[in-house]
Amino acid sequence: MGLSLDATQLDRYSRHIIMDEVGQEGQAALLDASVLVVGAGGLGSPAIEYLAAAGVGHLGIADDDVVERSNLQRQVVHGDADVGRPKVASAADFVADLNPDVTVTTHELRVEPENVGDLVADYDFVVDATDNFRTRYLVNDACTLAAIPFSHGAIYKFEGQVTTVTPGGPCYRCLFPEAPPEGMVADCASTGVLGVLPGTVGCVQATEAVKAVVDVGDLLEGRMLFYDAMDMTFEELEYRQNPDCPVCGDDPIDSVAEVDYTDESCAVQGAD
Ligand SMILES: [Zn+2]
Repeated sequence: MGLSLDATQLDRYSRHIIMDEVGQEGQAALLDASVLVVGAGGLGSPAIEYLAAAGVGHLGIADDDVVERSNLQRQVVHGDADVGRPKVASAADFVADLNPDVTVTTHELRVEPENVGDLVADYDFVVDATDNFRTRYLVNDACTLAAIPFSHGAIYKFEGQVTTVTPGGPCYRCLFPEAPPEGMVADCASTGVLGVLPGTVGCVQATEAVKAVVDVGDLLEGRMLFYDAMDMTFEELEYRQNPDCPVCGDDPIDSVAEVDYTDESCAVQGAD
């Protein structure tokens, strides 16, 4: 690490530093950390916002979309003047404005089996803020195979779910070996979503990233947190590693190249 904080940083992060659980050492770890946010949409926006504010020194932002006016109801790093701009550019401007300590690397790309390994490789932690199963499984599989911890988040109308996958722990596929049939779970565009909902879920994901970097507290390892905004309840489901899991089990695949992600199930063929 070896980072020493300057006077401006001691001021900026004083509410972190004053806590024994973070301190100068924890803040230095944050400034030294690289976190990738996959998706600069509903979940990615609050994650990017709070990770930048927290002083995560290197923030990667991956997205291939442009900002649409219908995004602005929940995707709070983008403004009205950003409509039509690439989301990664808009998000990078937001971060630059918020905190000059943060270096942003933009990845304007669609996550594919061919690029996901290189994409996640340089990061200490990944926030999966995607809105589709294909990318979700790609991120799970690539991060798990590369032993990179990540936070999974998903939203549906008034409900959200979050879990954190760490090396050696169960992965998303242990709980959901394959994606539901197309049409079973619709996207935000066709079902709608309460605008503030991804704010809550994305903030939980950012919290997990900060805790993982600072190395404090208990992560959502082997726990899926379910949030219901209508009832205002948080419930938790514990899950275990599946020894037959094709990604983190006893006989894992070698790479994501072995999986056909064009199949809507994203299932690993030949897996038990
Ligand atoms: Zn697994």
